[in-house]
Amino acid sequence: MIGQDLIESLLETEMAASGDTAGWVLITDQNVERIYHRIIQDLKAGAEELSLPFLTLAIPPGESSKSLSKVEDLAGIMAREGFGRKTKIIALGGGVVGDMAGFLASIYMRGVAYIQIPTTLLSQVDSSIGGKTGVNLLEGKNLLGSFYPPKSVWIDGNFLTTLKREDWINGYGELLKHGIIKDPQLFTDLERKLQQNSLFDTDSRSLERLTLLILKGISVKQEIVEADEKEEGLRRLLNYGHTFGHALEALYHYQGYSHGTAVLKGMIWEGEMALHLGILNKEDFRRIRALIEGILPQGSALPSLEKDLEALIHYMKRDKKNRNRKISFILPEKIGKVREEFLEEEKLREILAKRKI
Ligand code: ADP
Ligand code: ZN
Repeated sequence: MIGQDLIESLLETEMAASGDTAGWVLITDQNVERIYHRIIQDLKAGAEELSLPFLTLAIPPGESSKSLSKVEDLAGIMAREGFGRKTKIIALGGGVVGDMAGFLASIYMRGVAYIQIPTTLLSQVDSSIGGKTGVNLLEGKNLLGSFYPPKSVWIDGNFLTTLKREDWINGYGELLKHGIIKDPQLFTDLERKLQQNSLFDTDSRSLERLTLLILKGISVKQEIVEADEKEEGLRRLLNYGHTFGHALEALYHYQGYSHGTAVLKGMIWEGEMALHLGILNKEDFRRIRALIEGILPQGSALPSLEKDLEALIHYMKRDKKNRNRKISFILPEKIGKVREEFLEEEKLREILAKRKI
Protein backbone atom coordinates (compact mmCIF):
# COMPACT_ATOMS: atom_id res chain seq x y z
CA MET A 1 0.00 0.00 0.00
CA ILE A 2 1.29 3.44 -0.99
CA GLY A 3 3.02 5.36 1.73
CA GLN A 4 2.53 2.57 4.23
CA ASP A 5 6.18 2.20 5.22
CA LEU A 6 6.45 5.90 5.61
CA ILE A 7 3.39 6.13 7.82
CA GLU A 8 4.58 3.24 9.97
CA SER A 9 7.97 4.80 10.63
CA LEU A 10 6.41 8.20 11.13
CA LEU A 11 4.04 6.79 13.71
CA GLU A 12 6.86 4.98 15.46
CA THR A 13 8.96 8.13 15.68
CA GLU A 14 6.06 10.25 16.77
CA MET A 15 4.92 7.77 19.37
CA ALA A 16 8.39 7.64 20.87
CA ALA A 17 8.32 11.41 21.20
CA SER A 18 4.67 11.73 22.09
CA GLY A 19 5.32 13.11 25.57
CA ASP A 20 5.79 16.52 23.97
CA THR A 21 2.61 16.43 21.92
CA ALA A 22 -0.94 17.11 23.01
CA GLY A 23 -2.72 16.51 19.71
CA TRP A 24 -2.28 16.34 15.96
CA VAL A 25 -3.84 18.53 13.33
CA LEU A 26 -3.42 17.15 9.83
CA ILE A 27 -3.70 19.78 7.13
CA THR A 28 -4.18 18.60 3.57
CA ASP A 29 -6.12 19.53 0.45
CA GLN A 30 -9.29 17.90 -0.78
CA ASN A 31 -7.61 16.02 -3.65
CA VAL A 32 -4.96 14.52 -1.41
CA GLU A 33 -7.56 13.76 1.25
CA ARG A 34 -9.60 11.80 -1.30
CA ILE A 35 -6.66 9.90 -2.80
CA TYR A 36 -4.86 9.18 0.48
CA HIS A 37 -7.86 8.62 2.69
CA ARG A 38 -6.37 5.35 4.00
CA ILE A 39 -3.16 7.00 5.13
CA ILE A 40 -5.08 9.66 6.99
CA GLN A 41 -7.15 6.94 8.66
CA ASP A 42 -3.94 5.20 9.76
CA LEU A 43 -2.53 8.38 11.25
CA LYS A 44 -5.78 8.98 13.06
CA ALA A 45 -5.70 5.46 14.44
CA GLY A 46 -2.10 6.04 15.58
CA ALA A 47 -3.12 9.18 17.42
CA GLU A 48 -6.05 7.43 19.04
CA GLU A 49 -3.75 4.71 20.30
CA LEU A 50 -1.90 7.43 22.19
CA SER A 51 -5.16 9.06 23.28
CA LEU A 52 -4.21 12.19 21.35
CA PRO A 53 -6.91 14.35 19.78
CA PHE A 54 -6.70 14.26 15.98
CA LEU A 55 -8.26 16.69 13.55
CA THR A 56 -8.16 16.67 9.75
CA LEU A 57 -8.54 19.99 7.97
CA ALA A 58 -8.79 19.79 4.16
CA ILE A 59 -8.52 23.00 2.15
CA PRO A 60 -9.63 23.40 -1.47
CA PRO A 61 -6.73 22.55 -3.81
CA GLY A 62 -4.93 25.37 -5.57
CA GLU A 63 -3.06 28.57 -4.97
CA SER A 64 -6.15 30.49 -3.79
CA SER A 65 -6.03 28.52 -0.52
CA LYS A 66 -2.69 30.16 0.28
CA SER A 67 -4.41 33.11 1.91
CA LEU A 68 -4.47 34.83 5.26
CA SER A 69 -8.22 34.29 5.54
CA LYS A 70 -7.70 30.52 5.16
CA VAL A 71 -5.03 30.62 7.89
CA GLU A 72 -7.47 32.50 10.11
CA ASP A 73 -10.28 30.00 9.40
CA LEU A 74 -8.12 27.01 10.28
CA ALA A 75 -6.66 28.66 13.38
CA GLY A 76 -10.20 29.45 14.52
CA ILE A 77 -11.26 25.83 14.16
CA MET A 78 -8.16 24.64 16.03
CA ALA A 79 -8.80 27.07 18.87
CA ARG A 80 -12.47 26.10 19.12
CA GLU A 81 -11.49 22.43 19.22
CA GLY A 82 -9.11 23.15 22.10
CA PHE A 83 -5.75 22.59 20.38
CA GLY A 84 -3.06 24.30 22.43
CA ARG A 85 0.65 25.09 22.32
CA LYS A 86 1.73 21.48 22.25
CA THR A 87 -0.20 20.68 19.10
CA LYS A 88 1.75 19.18 16.24
CA ILE A 89 0.67 20.10 12.72
CA ILE A 90 1.17 17.56 9.94
CA ALA A 91 1.22 19.09 6.46
CA LEU A 92 0.26 16.36 3.96
CA GLY A 93 0.17 17.69 0.41
CA GLY A 94 1.95 19.80 -2.19
CA GLY A 95 3.55 23.21 -1.89
CA VAL A 96 0.27 25.00 -1.23
CA VAL A 97 -0.49 22.89 1.82
CA GLY A 98 3.12 22.99 3.04
CA ASP A 99 3.54 26.77 2.72
CA MET A 100 0.20 27.57 4.27
CA ALA A 101 0.30 24.98 7.07
CA GLY A 102 3.90 25.98 7.86
CA PHE A 103 2.87 29.61 8.15
CA LEU A 104 -0.06 28.69 10.37
CA ALA A 105 2.29 26.60 12.56
CA SER A 106 4.68 29.54 12.84
CA ILE A 107 2.05 31.88 14.29
CA TYR A 108 -0.51 29.65 16.02
CA MET A 109 -0.09 30.37 19.75
CA ARG A 110 3.26 31.98 18.82
CA GLY A 111 4.44 28.85 17.10
CA VAL A 112 3.75 25.12 17.27
CA ALA A 113 5.78 22.21 15.89
CA TYR A 114 5.01 20.87 12.44
CA ILE A 115 6.17 18.16 10.09
CA GLN A 116 6.00 18.04 6.33
CA ILE A 117 4.92 15.10 4.22
CA PRO A 118 5.28 16.56 0.73
CA THR A 119 3.26 14.66 -1.88
CA THR A 120 4.30 16.37 -5.14
CA LEU A 121 7.68 16.16 -6.83
CA LEU A 122 7.99 19.93 -6.62
CA SER A 123 7.34 20.09 -2.90
CA GLN A 124 9.64 17.12 -2.26
CA VAL A 125 12.64 18.63 -4.05
CA ASP A 126 12.00 22.25 -3.33
CA SER A 127 9.35 23.92 -1.20
CA SER A 128 9.41 21.56 1.79
CA ILE A 129 13.16 22.19 2.20
CA GLY A 130 14.53 25.46 3.52
CA GLY A 131 11.98 26.54 6.08
CA LYS A 132 10.19 29.22 4.09
CA THR A 133 6.48 29.44 4.79
CA GLY A 134 3.92 31.91 3.53
CA VAL A 135 0.67 32.98 1.99
CA ASN A 136 -0.22 35.28 -0.90
CA LEU A 137 -1.74 38.74 -0.89
CA LEU A 138 -3.78 40.15 -3.76
CA GLU A 139 -0.72 42.32 -4.35
CA GLY A 140 1.63 39.42 -4.90
CA LYS A 141 2.72 35.89 -4.10
CA ASN A 142 4.28 34.94 -0.75
CA LEU A 143 4.17 38.49 0.58
CA LEU A 144 3.35 37.33 4.10
CA GLY A 145 5.50 34.62 5.55
CA SER A 146 8.17 33.47 7.93
CA PHE A 147 11.30 31.38 8.14
CA TYR A 148 10.09 28.45 10.21
CA PRO A 149 11.61 25.03 9.53
CA PRO A 150 9.57 21.88 10.15
CA LYS A 151 10.73 19.42 12.80
CA SER A 152 11.08 16.83 10.05
CA VAL A 153 10.31 16.21 6.38
CA TRP A 154 9.17 12.75 5.26
CA ILE A 155 9.85 11.84 1.64
CA ASP A 156 8.11 8.98 -0.13
CA GLY A 157 8.35 8.61 -3.91
CA ASN A 158 5.21 6.45 -3.89
CA PHE A 159 3.03 9.53 -3.62
CA LEU A 160 4.10 10.44 -7.14
CA THR A 161 2.20 7.53 -8.74
CA THR A 162 -0.99 9.59 -8.67
CA LEU A 163 0.49 12.89 -9.81
CA LYS A 164 -0.65 14.60 -13.02
CA ARG A 165 1.90 15.02 -15.82
CA GLU A 166 2.03 18.82 -15.41
CA ASP A 167 2.92 18.39 -11.74
CA TRP A 168 5.73 16.01 -12.65
CA ILE A 169 7.08 18.64 -15.06
CA ASN A 170 6.87 21.30 -12.36
CA GLY A 171 8.99 19.16 -10.07
CA TYR A 172 11.51 18.15 -12.72
CA GLY A 173 12.17 21.84 -13.41
CA GLU A 174 13.55 22.37 -9.91
CA LEU A 175 15.28 18.98 -9.70
CA LEU A 176 17.18 19.60 -12.90
CA LYS A 177 18.01 23.09 -11.67
CA HIS A 178 19.62 21.62 -8.56
CA GLY A 179 21.79 19.45 -10.81
CA ILE A 180 22.95 22.42 -12.88
CA ILE A 181 23.66 24.51 -9.79
CA LYS A 182 25.69 22.01 -7.84
CA ASP A 183 25.44 18.33 -8.78
CA PRO A 184 26.64 17.31 -12.26
CA GLN A 185 26.00 13.63 -11.47
CA LEU A 186 22.35 14.36 -10.72
CA PHE A 187 22.15 16.07 -14.12
CA THR A 188 23.71 13.05 -15.84
CA ASP A 189 21.30 10.71 -14.01
CA LEU A 190 18.37 12.74 -15.31
CA GLU A 191 19.82 12.66 -18.84
CA ARG A 192 19.96 8.89 -18.56
CA LYS A 193 16.32 8.76 -17.48
CA LEU A 194 15.39 10.84 -20.49
CA GLN A 195 17.36 8.56 -22.85
CA GLN A 196 15.65 5.52 -21.33
CA ASN A 197 12.34 7.26 -21.71
CA SER A 198 11.61 6.54 -18.05
CA LEU A 199 11.15 10.04 -16.62
CA PHE A 200 7.50 9.49 -15.81
CA ASP A 201 7.55 5.77 -14.97
CA THR A 202 5.86 4.80 -11.74
CA ASP A 203 6.75 1.14 -11.30
CA SER A 204 8.36 0.51 -7.94
CA ARG A 205 11.94 0.20 -9.30
CA SER A 206 11.70 3.50 -11.15
CA LEU A 207 10.26 5.21 -8.11
CA GLU A 208 13.03 3.84 -5.95
CA ARG A 209 15.63 5.23 -8.35
CA LEU A 210 13.81 8.51 -8.61
CA THR A 211 13.71 8.79 -4.81
CA LEU A 212 17.52 8.65 -4.80
CA LEU A 213 17.59 11.54 -7.28
CA ILE A 214 15.10 13.45 -5.15
CA LEU A 215 17.40 12.98 -2.16
CA LYS A 216 20.35 14.29 -4.19
CA GLY A 217 18.29 17.32 -5.20
CA ILE A 218 17.31 17.90 -1.58
CA SER A 219 20.98 17.77 -0.50
CA VAL A 220 21.86 20.51 -2.96
CA LYS A 221 19.13 22.74 -1.62
CA GLN A 222 19.91 21.88 1.98
CA GLU A 223 23.62 22.65 1.63
CA ILE A 224 22.87 26.00 0.09
CA VAL A 225 20.17 26.90 2.58
CA GLU A 226 22.20 25.86 5.59
CA ALA A 227 25.04 28.08 4.47
CA ASP A 228 22.63 30.99 4.02
CA GLU A 229 19.49 30.71 6.14
CA LYS A 230 18.18 34.21 5.60
CA GLU A 231 18.74 34.50 1.86
CA GLU A 232 21.64 36.91 1.85
CA GLY A 233 24.09 35.38 -0.60
CA LEU A 234 24.42 31.78 -1.66
CA ARG A 235 20.71 31.14 -1.61
CA ARG A 236 20.34 33.48 -4.56
CA LEU A 237 21.92 30.76 -6.70
CA LEU A 238 18.69 28.79 -6.38
CA ASN A 239 17.15 31.41 -8.64
CA TYR A 240 18.70 30.04 -11.82
CA GLY A 241 15.96 30.14 -14.46
CA HIS A 242 13.78 32.23 -12.18
CA THR A 243 14.53 35.79 -13.39
CA PHE A 244 12.90 34.94 -16.71
CA GLY A 245 10.65 32.33 -15.11
CA HIS A 246 9.01 34.70 -12.64
CA ALA A 247 8.61 37.39 -15.31
CA LEU A 248 6.94 34.89 -17.62
CA GLU A 249 4.50 33.76 -14.93
CA ALA A 250 3.65 37.36 -14.04
CA LEU A 251 3.28 38.44 -17.69
CA TYR A 252 0.60 35.78 -18.21
CA HIS A 253 -1.03 36.55 -14.84
CA TYR A 254 -0.05 33.16 -13.40
CA GLN A 255 -2.53 31.51 -15.80
CA GLY A 256 -0.44 30.96 -18.93
CA TYR A 257 2.40 28.77 -17.75
CA SER A 258 2.97 26.71 -14.64
CA HIS A 259 5.93 27.63 -12.44
CA GLY A 260 7.82 24.57 -13.68
CA THR A 261 7.33 25.32 -17.38
CA ALA A 262 8.26 28.96 -16.85
CA VAL A 263 11.45 28.03 -14.99
CA LEU A 264 12.40 25.37 -17.55
CA LYS A 265 12.09 27.96 -20.33
CA GLY A 266 13.89 30.49 -18.13
CA MET A 267 16.80 28.07 -17.69
CA ILE A 268 17.16 27.71 -21.48
CA TRP A 269 17.11 31.48 -22.02
CA GLU A 270 19.50 32.20 -19.16
CA GLY A 271 21.72 29.38 -20.44
CA GLU A 272 21.74 31.05 -23.85
CA MET A 273 22.74 34.31 -22.25
CA ALA A 274 25.64 32.58 -20.50
CA LEU A 275 26.66 31.05 -23.82
CA HIS A 276 26.67 34.40 -25.64
CA LEU A 277 28.54 36.06 -22.77
CA GLY A 278 31.26 33.43 -23.12
CA ILE A 279 30.57 32.09 -19.60
CA LEU A 280 29.16 28.70 -20.65
CA ASN A 281 30.58 26.34 -23.27
CA LYS A 282 28.55 25.13 -26.26
CA GLU A 283 28.46 21.48 -25.26
CA ASP A 284 27.08 22.12 -21.78
CA PHE A 285 24.49 24.48 -23.22
CA ARG A 286 23.46 21.83 -25.73
CA ARG A 287 23.04 19.29 -22.91
CA ILE A 288 21.02 21.70 -20.77
CA ARG A 289 18.71 22.55 -23.65
CA ALA A 290 18.29 18.92 -24.73
CA LEU A 291 17.32 17.75 -21.25
CA ILE A 292 14.89 20.61 -20.73
CA GLU A 293 13.27 20.10 -24.13
CA GLY A 294 12.91 16.41 -23.32
CA ILE A 295 11.00 17.25 -20.15
CA LEU A 296 8.79 20.06 -21.44
CA PRO A 297 5.36 19.05 -22.71
CA GLN A 298 5.46 18.11 -26.38
CA GLY A 299 3.38 19.95 -28.89
CA SER A 300 1.98 22.52 -26.45
CA ALA A 301 2.32 26.22 -27.10
CA LEU A 302 5.50 27.43 -25.44
CA PRO A 303 6.46 31.02 -24.82
CA SER A 304 8.55 32.82 -27.38
CA LEU A 305 11.28 35.25 -26.47
CA GLU A 306 10.95 37.07 -29.78
CA LYS A 307 7.37 37.97 -29.05
CA ASP A 308 7.62 38.72 -25.35
CA LEU A 309 11.11 40.08 -24.67
CA GLU A 310 10.14 43.72 -24.09
CA ALA A 311 7.22 42.81 -21.83
CA LEU A 312 9.44 40.39 -19.92
CA ILE A 313 12.09 43.08 -19.41
CA HIS A 314 9.38 45.27 -17.91
CA TYR A 315 8.68 42.60 -15.27
CA MET A 316 12.33 41.69 -14.73
CA LYS A 317 13.13 45.32 -13.90
CA ARG A 318 10.89 44.97 -10.84
CA ASP A 319 12.71 41.91 -9.50
CA LYS A 320 13.65 42.48 -5.87
CA LYS A 321 17.08 40.91 -6.41
CA ASN A 322 18.18 43.70 -8.78
CA ARG A 323 20.88 46.22 -7.86
CA ASN A 324 21.52 49.74 -9.15
CA ARG A 325 18.98 49.34 -11.95
CA LYS A 326 20.79 46.24 -13.17
CA ILE A 327 18.89 42.98 -13.48
CA SER A 328 20.14 39.99 -11.49
CA PHE A 329 20.66 36.74 -13.40
CA ILE A 330 22.04 33.44 -12.18
CA LEU A 331 24.03 32.07 -15.09
CA PRO A 332 25.60 28.63 -15.53
CA GLU A 333 29.37 28.46 -15.94
CA LYS A 334 29.18 24.72 -16.51
CA ILE A 335 26.88 21.90 -15.46
CA GLY A 336 27.35 21.91 -11.69
CA LYS A 337 28.31 25.57 -11.22
CA VAL A 338 26.44 28.87 -11.52
CA ARG A 339 27.17 32.50 -10.64
CA GLU A 340 25.29 35.75 -10.34
CA GLU A 341 25.63 38.52 -12.93
CA PHE A 342 23.98 41.93 -12.93
CA LEU A 343 23.11 43.25 -16.38
CA GLU A 344 21.70 46.49 -17.71
CA GLU A 345 18.65 46.03 -19.87
CA GLU A 346 20.50 47.34 -22.92
CA LYS A 347 23.17 44.69 -22.43
CA LEU A 348 20.47 42.06 -22.18
CA ARG A 349 18.97 43.13 -25.52
CA GLU A 350 22.41 43.12 -27.09
CA ILE A 351 23.18 39.57 -25.90
CA LEU A 352 19.84 38.18 -26.90
CA ALA A 353 20.12 39.74 -30.35
CA LYS A 354 22.91 37.20 -30.92
CA ARG A 355 20.46 34.31 -30.74
CA LYS A 356 20.17 32.31 -33.90
CA ILE A 357 16.56 31.34 -34.25
P1 ADP B 1 2.97 22.22 -5.81
O1 ADP B 1 3.09 21.85 -7.24
O2 ADP B 1 3.53 23.56 -5.46
O3 ADP B 1 3.43 21.19 -4.88
P2 ADP B 1 0.07 22.13 -5.12
O4 ADP B 1 0.12 22.02 -3.67
O5 ADP B 1 -0.85 23.15 -5.69
O6 ADP B 1 1.45 22.53 -5.74
O7 ADP B 1 -0.24 20.72 -5.77
C1 ADP B 1 -0.53 20.60 -7.14
C2 ADP B 1 -1.79 19.76 -7.37
O8 ADP B 1 -1.49 18.40 -7.14
C3 ADP B 1 -2.96 20.10 -6.46
O9 ADP B 1 -4.13 20.04 -7.23
C4 ADP B 1 -2.95 18.97 -5.42
O10 ADP B 1 -4.23 18.72 -4.93
C5 ADP B 1 -2.44 17.82 -6.23
N1 ADP B 1 -1.69 16.79 -5.52
C6 ADP B 1 -0.84 16.95 -4.50
N2 ADP B 1 -0.24 15.77 -4.20
C7 ADP B 1 -0.75 14.86 -5.05
C8 ADP B 1 -0.54 13.46 -5.26
N3 ADP B 1 0.35 12.78 -4.56
N4 ADP B 1 -1.25 12.85 -6.24
C9 ADP B 1 -2.14 13.55 -6.99
N5 ADP B 1 -2.36 14.86 -6.86
C10 ADP B 1 -1.69 15.50 -5.90
ZN1 ZN C 1 10.99 27.65 -8.37
